[in-house]
Amino acid sequence: MVPFLDLQAQMAEIRADVDAALKRVLDSCRFVLGPEVEAFENEFSEFSQCKNSIAVNSGTSALHLALLSLGIGPGDEVVTVSMTFVATVAAIRYTGATPVFVDVEPGRYTMDPSQLEAAITTKTKAIIPVHLYGQAADMDPILEVAAKHKIPVIEDAAQAHGALYKGKAVGSMGDLGCFSFYPGKNLGACGEGGLVTTNNEDLAATLRSLRDWGQNKRYHHQLKGYNYRMDAFQGAILRIKLRHLRNWTQARQKHAARYRDLLKDSPITLPTEFAVGGHVYHIFAVRHPQRDALQKHLGERGVHSGLHYPFPVHTLEAHADLGYEKGQFPVSEKLAAEELSLPMFAELKDEQLIEVQKAIECWSYDE
Ligand SMILES: *Cc1c(COP(=O)(O)O)cnc(C)c1O
Repeated sequence: MVPFLDLQAQMAEIRADVDAALKRVLDSCRFVLGPEVEAFENEFSEFSQCKNSIAVNSGTSALHLALLSLGIGPGDEVVTVSMTFVATVAAIRYTGATPVFVDVEPGRYTMDPSQLEAAITTKTKAIIPVHLYGQAADMDPILEVAAKHKIPVIEDAAQAHGALYKGKAVGSMGDLGCFSFYPGKNLGACGEGGLVTTNNEDLAATLRSLRDWGQNKRYHHQLKGYNYRMDAFQGAILRIKLRHLRNWTQARQKHAARYRDLLKDSPITLPTEFAVGGHVYHIFAVRHPQRDALQKHLGERGVHSGLHYPFPVHTLEAHADLGYEKGQFPVSEKLAAEELSLPMFAELKDEQLIEVQKAIECWSYDE
């Protein structure tokens, strides 16, 4: 059997350190924010080449607060992609602003910069590219359009911890970067977690206030804030995992290279890597027009796979009120119909990669 993701293998490697960290927090009784979370923020800032990190309780909260820190609310528009996890869009809607979608690029699967200009109106208050599957969006042309119209950029880096774009870390190029530490992400907590990065000191101060009830001093509530604080257990565990992240990412990249070699003659389309080292392979996304049949076949052979994501957000019932129709974003819709996520995690063994190859090799499909 080849699991899609094996968190127990990772935990086995770090268990002693995790136990010690949990004990440290229990002994301190500092359960919310506090020294562990602060230390994690500092270490994450260094990792992501950013001046400020603000830890919160989920990636969704990170996106919500990033938008609020820019003053975004009802009547505003935020341009993003429909080919993303629903949270990107939900966070925009929490603020009362309206999401405006553009399609993704055919090989890269991220925001198509050539469609950006046409989506911008006088109401556009932010642009959110999503670094989908672990590969950075084509940031230079996106930042160029944003600068021309003086619109801030929020990077949704929830799937791309440590990914690079022309040597720059994701989360450090836009005005704000948003990360998720959901357990299955490349850097995952043992529970929920998220973080906002920014080089802007004013935005950082606003974010720190907003995550903790809008106070800058105890009981001095200046802003309508939230309880979005990170808990200390997660901070302490994330500090341990962050030290392993570069190695774990290298292992993912090695597995991706091996998959490419093993599957080069197979009928499936492999992901395109736009820069060496730039893709951190949160998801190894392959494609085939008969995706559902392929997934069923792999499942029968004990190879577990995933779908990211079978329905672009503009086709979801929850967001039907935005008024989009099927067919409006053909690249996203085709990708959603054809994408299959193969097993990908640092601890994958070569035998398992070969098992995946063999399972694909013996799949017979209609030409
Ligand atoms: C996981 C994810 C989020 C949300 O993060 P949570 O921590 O689950 O709230 C947002 N955007 C993308 C692209 C994600 O993959």
